[in-house]
Amino acid sequence: MDKNWISNWAVKALRKLKNPWPIKEAAWQVIKFLVACGKSHPLSFALRPIADNKYVRLVPGMILFLGILWWTTPLTLASGVGGQIGINLNLVPETILETKISTQLPVNNFVLTQGFSIIHSGYDMAVPIGTRVRPVMSGVVKEAERNWHGYGNMILVDHKNGYESRYGHLSQIWVQAGQEVDLGTTLGLSGSTGRSTGPHLHLEIIENGRVVSPKTVLGI
Ligand SMILES: [Zn+2]
Repeated sequence: MDKNWISNWAVKALRKLKNPWPIKEAAWQVIKFLVACGKSHPLSFALRPIADNKYVRLVPGMILFLGILWWTTPLTLASGVGGQIGINLNLVPETILETKISTQLPVNNFVLTQGFSIIHSGYDMAVPIGTRVRPVMSGVVKEAERNWHGYGNMILVDHKNGYESRYGHLSQIWVQAGQEVDLGTTLGLSGSTGRSTGPHLHLEIIENGRVVSPKTVLGI
């Protein structure tokens, strides 16, 4: 091998650099690449084979979707009633309750801070901590649990007419499972337990196992 192969190579390389051809060639390669990118960003072109793989796409997509859902709907997922998400968009005609069944608002002097929607399974009724919470109809306490996931201290009342009502984020529970309650009963005191951003009552109405808008029962 030529002892001076390094310097010879350097000289050749320098000559090539002086010649505009390599620069032209490089520019041409860049243009070819950009054309191949389909007029899209080179990075997205480079990542396209990865993004096009449906499994690769599915996993982060699902994580993102569930993450957004979790953050935006503190209780929709936690309510434990399957298949309710996105079903009730206030499109269900209001059920006319028998006039002999009396209903009432669970709390007085509240501010409705979040309504029923595709991302929220009930009404958020802002009231000071310690406000008495009453059942919307008479019935029997089905569940009265402390620090239940998401809902915090939570009471579920079965009204024995196809309807159930759930009261979440309570500070105190005054009833127990199996107890009969009527419109005069205090179920407990409002609070901010569980996944709650401030003092309020989370009210859910369940019609034949499916969450519906509380408007169905309360008319508001
Ligand atoms: Zn809520």
